Order: sequence, then structure tokens, then C-alpha cells
Amino acid sequence: MFWADAVAQELKKRKLPLEWVDDMKTPSGKIHVGALRGVVVHDLAYKALLSLGVKAKYTYVFEDQDPMDGLPVYLDQNKYQQYMGLPLFKVPSPEKGYENYARYYASDFKKVFNAIGCNPEIIWVTDLYKSGRMNDCIKQALDKSQEIKKIYEAMYKKQISDPWYPFQVYCVSCGKVSTTKVTDWDGKEVTFTCNVDAVKYTKGCGFIGKASPFSDEKEVRGKLPWKVEWPAKWKTIGITVEGGGKDHMSAGGSYDLSSQIAKKIFAYSPPFALPYEFFLVGGKKMSSSKGLGSSASDMLEILPPELLRFLMVKTKINQAINFDPAEKDTISTLFDEYQKAAEAYFEKTSDDLARTFELSQIDKVKKPPTVRFSVLAQWVQMPNMDLEIKKEGLEEWAKYARIWVERFAPESEKFVVQKELPEQAKNLSGLQKQFLARLSSELDKNWIAEDLQKNLFEWAKELGVSSKDAFAAIYLSLIGKDHGPKAGWIILSLDKEFVKKRFNE
Ligand SMILES: [Zn+2]
Repeated sequence: MFWADAVAQELKKRKLPLEWVDDMKTPSGKIHVGALRGVVVHDLAYKALLSLGVKAKYTYVFEDQDPMDGLPVYLDQNKYQQYMGLPLFKVPSPEKGYENYARYYASDFKKVFNAIGCNPEIIWVTDLYKSGRMNDCIKQALDKSQEIKKIYEAMYKKQISDPWYPFQVYCVSCGKVSTTKVTDWDGKEVTFTCNVDAVKYTKGCGFIGKASPFSDEKEVRGKLPWKVEWPAKWKTIGITVEGGGKDHMSAGGSYDLSSQIAKKIFAYSPPFALPYEFFLVGGKKMSSSKGLGSSASDMLEILPPELLRFLMVKTKINQAINFDPAEKDTISTLFDEYQKAAEAYFEKTSDDLARTFELSQIDKVKKPPTVRFSVLAQWVQMPNMDLEIKKEGLEEWAKYARIWVERFAPESEKFVVQKELPEQAKNLSGLQKQFLARLSSELDKNWIAEDLQKNLFEWAKELGVSSKDAFAAIYLSLIGKDHGPKAGWIILSLDKEFVKKRFNE
């Protein structure tokens, strides 16, 4: 059985009135494609629940209150240095038209997951705090700070020195959060200092004073540290299913700690855990704040949405995805697998594979083309193939084939029909020349590519030329290489007079 269906069956047994599936991410910069796996994993659990008739909801939380604690390389470093230490929602957007920095990068990521068929309801953490709904948990966390501290100490096996409070207040003087430390709590307000040398990447203002930790419509005044915020969020929202990457979900990881806080401090049962393995690009788990090239939106430039979704659907959640588009066969193999899954679906041959295809669809089930991607990658390099591509319904995939040729294809897979007779063709043997002359004389007939291909072998045999030499003659004279795409196709894709002239040269 497909894994998400097994999870849904398990969940159905709990008979909860509502299963609330949730995932989250901090938009601290361009979001790595790895985070997309979380969105898809949760989406699959959600959709599997719905297909079993279980009432379910799916939300996605953008943590826009985390501090800016690093500057991604693609930002204007001089401009952004001044915002270090501020919560992300107080940092300006790199482009006009967005409320703030967090919203800008979240929106870029949201576009991608919407495009691949995931449409969770968005929750902004600032809105959650502003609504006042987090205030109960904030009060409990501050009241029970000693108990929370003990949970941390037991889990990490080290002492935490007093004073310690699980709250990160926004400095009322400079607005920063990375620099503040709460030193006391009187039941209404926290006392805090904004330490000048609290962190390396920015300076505090030195302010010492009091502030309310409770947010309201007008202002967000601070946040819980994330391992306390996670369980507070579970309870406040009512989340019943939530996973994370294996780094968070392993024994002694954030999920463990947050679960204990959920039970002991907030009296809330931790959600059903959905742990999943990493999504690596070329063997690397790149962080969102570093570099370009493997962000979720980059990936959508090189794969059609249903293929990007399929890549994650087809891989079991306990298996890492290591996707390296620069490797020769990575992309074409993915397309082949997709076509195989489609076949299973339409011919009802394998349950799991058919279900994988079904769950990879964006809106409704769409039959993919049957022409292989590797062939298509040749077609897009041949002249005059536009009609053929259109006739076969390949326009959408052809777009990605062109991108593959441009960005990833090894030299051996690339070819250009040469305008002049290539140098390499000048040393053909007499037999090879005879073969080309024969071929040229046959070209006025009305060929279809497959038949022409068959005949090429026949003519070579008749003339006593090896098929290797015969085909090399065709390729050398057209593209200047001794190998190439299927000869029958490339010959017919070209202007007849041009080919005849070339073969007789
Ligand atoms: Zn300050």
C-alpha cells in the first residue's frame, strides 16, 4: 500500500473529529527545495485522509518572527547589515510590493508549492501572536520556566545557568530580538537587558527595562523560543499531524523536546509524527540562506510541476532523495519513470505505481506524452520539428527538453546541423560516399522516419558498408560528429534539397 494511505488508515483508527495537518518553515531567504518535500509529505497525508472520508484540514505556518541572523549572499550586504538581529517581519523586502522580507521569500516559495498542487491555508506566526491566542501559552511558559529548564537540561545533559526564561522579547528601544535576555518575570511583565555583545553579528543597544510579553492587535512583543513555540503552536492551533526532516525528528531532537513540553507544560498530546528524509541536490543539503541554484523556484524552472511533484511522491519518506540534474541521465530517467507510472495507472497494472501517478497529478489526471524525453531532447535540436512536436502534444515537455539541452546535456548529446560541409566529413571513404549518394537518390520518395531508418541498414548492406561506417557518414556530413540522434528522423527533419546537396558534396 502507498505509504500515505497506510498513514491515513492508522490515523482513521483514532476517530478524531478533525485531523489537522500542519507544516512550517522560516522564510529567512530563498527556500531550498528540501523544504518542498515537507509540504508534499503533509499534502499527501492530508489527501489520503480525505480519500478515506476523514475530516481533515491542512495549514502551513510561516515563521516570520525569527531573527535575521545571517545575510544570504545574494542580498545587498551593506543595505541589510543594519537589520541583523531584528525579527524577519521587521526587515524590508528586497523588492517592492511585499509587506516585508519574510513575506517576500515566503511568497516565492508558496508560488512553487501551489504550482505543484499543494494548497494549504497559510498561517503567519505574527498573526497568531497578534490574535492574542498565544498569550495563554506564553504565560504558562513563563510561569513554569523552571520546569521547562529542567526538561532542556535533562534532554541535553547540561546545566543552564539562572536567570533563564523561555521568552525572546523584542527590545522596546532598538527592536532587536537576538540581543535580548529576560532576567525576571513578575506575572505581568518581563525584565530584560539588550546586551551589547550578546551575539557576534550585531550589537545590542544596552537597554535595561520592563516590557509586556503579551502581543495584541497593535503590536507583537516577542516570541517563544522555537522548541517551546512549536508545542505552543500545536496546542493553540489544534494540530494533530505534523512531521519534520529527520534532523528534527531523531531521538533527542526538537520534536522529542517539544513533545515533552507539550505534555508536561501545556497538557497537549503531541501530533502524530511524520518524519521524512532529506532532499539533497547533488549530494548537498544546502541551507536556505546560502547560495543559489537549488531553491524550490529554481527546481521548477527545470522540471514541469507534475514531474517535480512526482519526484517526491515516488520516494518513500524514509529514503533520501538525491537529485542531481547535472548528472547525465537524472532528468530523462525521471521522465521515463513518470511515463511508466502513467502506464500503470491507465492499464491498472500496479497499485502502488498507479497511486503514485494519481497523487502526482496537479488538478486532474493528465495523460503524459509517450515519446521518451531522450528522444524529445533530440527533436528539439533538429530543425523543422515544430509541427511534429505539436502533433504529438509535446509542446509543454519540449520546453523542458530545450532547457535540459542548454543547461545540463553533456557534449555527446548535443548537436547542431552544420551550415557548411563540416571539416570532419572531408575524409569519407569511397564506400561511404557511395552510400550517401544512394541515400540522396532515394530522398524524393515520401518517407516516414521509421521506414527510412530500416532502409538505411538495407542500403548499407547492399553496398557492403558496415552500418557503423554508413551512419558515421551521415552524422559527419550533417553535424560533424561520428554519432548522433536517430538518422531517419534527423534526415527527414531537414530541408530535402539541403540534405541532397550535402550528401552529394
Ligand atoms: Zn535594544
